[in-house]
Amino acid sequence: MRTNDENVQLANLLFPQVNQSTEDIFKKYPKRELNEGSLVVRFAPSPTGFLHMGSVFTSLINRKLVDQVGGVCILRIEDTDKEREIEGGIDVIINGLSEFGIEFDESVQGGEYGPYVQSQRLDIYKVFAKDLVSKGFAYPCFASEEELSEIREKQSELSVRTGYYGEFAKWRESSLEEVRGELEGGKEFVIRLCSTGDNSVKFEFDDEIKGRCTFAQNDMDVVLLKSDGYPTYHFAHVIDDTLMGVNLVIRTYEWFPSVPLHLELFEKLGLSVIKYAHASPLMKMEDGKRRKLSKRKDPEADVRFFLEKGYPAIAILEYFLNIMNSNFADWRTQNLQLPYTEFKLKLKKFNKAGALFDMVKLEDVCKEYVASLSAKEVYDMSLVWAQKFDSELVKRLEENRELCINILNIEREGSKIRKDIIKWEDVNMAFEIFFDDMSDDIVLESVPENVDSKDVGEIVDRFLNSYDEGDDVTAWFEKIKVIGNDLGFTSDYKAYKESPSEFKGKVGDVAMVLRIALTKKSQTPDLYQVMQVMGKEMVEARLRGFVI
Ligand code: GLU
Repeated sequence: MRTNDENVQLANLLFPQVNQSTEDIFKKYPKRELNEGSLVVRFAPSPTGFLHMGSVFTSLINRKLVDQVGGVCILRIEDTDKEREIEGGIDVIINGLSEFGIEFDESVQGGEYGPYVQSQRLDIYKVFAKDLVSKGFAYPCFASEEELSEIREKQSELSVRTGYYGEFAKWRESSLEEVRGELEGGKEFVIRLCSTGDNSVKFEFDDEIKGRCTFAQNDMDVVLLKSDGYPTYHFAHVIDDTLMGVNLVIRTYEWFPSVPLHLELFEKLGLSVIKYAHASPLMKMEDGKRRKLSKRKDPEADVRFFLEKGYPAIAILEYFLNIMNSNFADWRTQNLQLPYTEFKLKLKKFNKAGALFDMVKLEDVCKEYVASLSAKEVYDMSLVWAQKFDSELVKRLEENRELCINILNIEREGSKIRKDIIKWEDVNMAFEIFFDDMSDDIVLESVPENVDSKDVGEIVDRFLNSYDEGDDVTAWFEKIKVIGNDLGFTSDYKAYKESPSEFKGKVGDVAMVLRIALTKKSQTPDLYQVMQVMGKEMVEARLRGFVI
């Protein structure tokens, strides 16, 4: 056992360049002046160059909760794993989240509690590590990878927990002389926590999402500083969240098992514990089982997937609120006009089993959202998207502004609102029947079998002769009925049902011939509205040019 004095000597031996104290550091991070009930939260991603949808999910929770009660939402970059880091990774995060309207009050872009990138805070971690060593709460460990795996093998043979703890933690009792010897030999070392926990002792803990939980105390001498001088997640988390004045840590469930360790770290560092909320990660159903949405397996785990296809960002946020708090759906139906920001998100209402990320449901929310917009809004939003991802669409939208808005306005009012646009990419599909260069690529569908080619010609000719662009929908349909009745296609559906053999078909078949003649397709939005938007010239040209 080292004496107190030896611990201080050990600290000086390990960190000769560190001459600041923890008090010096605390002075640079004064207590925040907050209103009662305000939150200071942070989103703390690693800059891997990949933005997972789970990041949008977690940062939305953070941003939304702060917006509800006031406070500060911080973006902290956790780049302590040099292997996972990618150049430009920070921009991927900031720009990606910004597409969803998620911005931060403090980040690399500014703030008084920085630096907000962990690799720029290495000196701070060293001060705290030195402090812990001097108090006997941490020590250097020179065990090599081989020695560590030998320990693990031995533990497996003995059928006990693997890890660096208790009697297996051979460097925790090392003398000053032993350490000096290793240092002189130039051996690499890490700094480990000297845990005083007892794994057989259970304690209770309240998580803001999971509620009351029972844990066993930590007894692992985990690494705090790696041999390259970088902190581990655990050490940096406790120090940074304290210095930055965070009062609620919202993070994914994968960190839940580390709670006992983090509580011990707060205690050994003499810091107050911060509240935790552990949110389950986004899950996916596969073969009837839930599994984590995976960056490797699921294209929809990648934020870029949604941005490139133009899923409306707000609809995605609405969908996320839906799976966070199940009462959102009712709130939405009762408050159609209100923005999602008015909804009160509650951690206590989170689904404890985890949120299922279901593309079908997400697309439903997108459809409903686009259906709630005006044609002009759809035009504007798809133009913003196209400016990044679809230059042809930009050209089309800009050169045919009025026509495009009119197309997008079809079936946008009244009882039957179109729901064919899920994402901005789909706007192209809504346009295809109206632009000759696009409709050239549509494969002509067949007219109904019961209409022979002579009747097809008759229908088209007669319609052309009677067509008046100024007709309202009733007059327009009346003309189609008349043509149908003349040719043996009845508008009396009851009569048709009773004795179908008396008729060639129904008036719907007549409308179908016109639909196909005008658009090549058997399924389109409301035909009257389509014709109104096409206008006389296009309607006549297409009908005249129609050959089966
Ligand atoms: N960098 C950690 C992660 O990406 C952050 C976890 C946390 O929010 O504390 O998982």
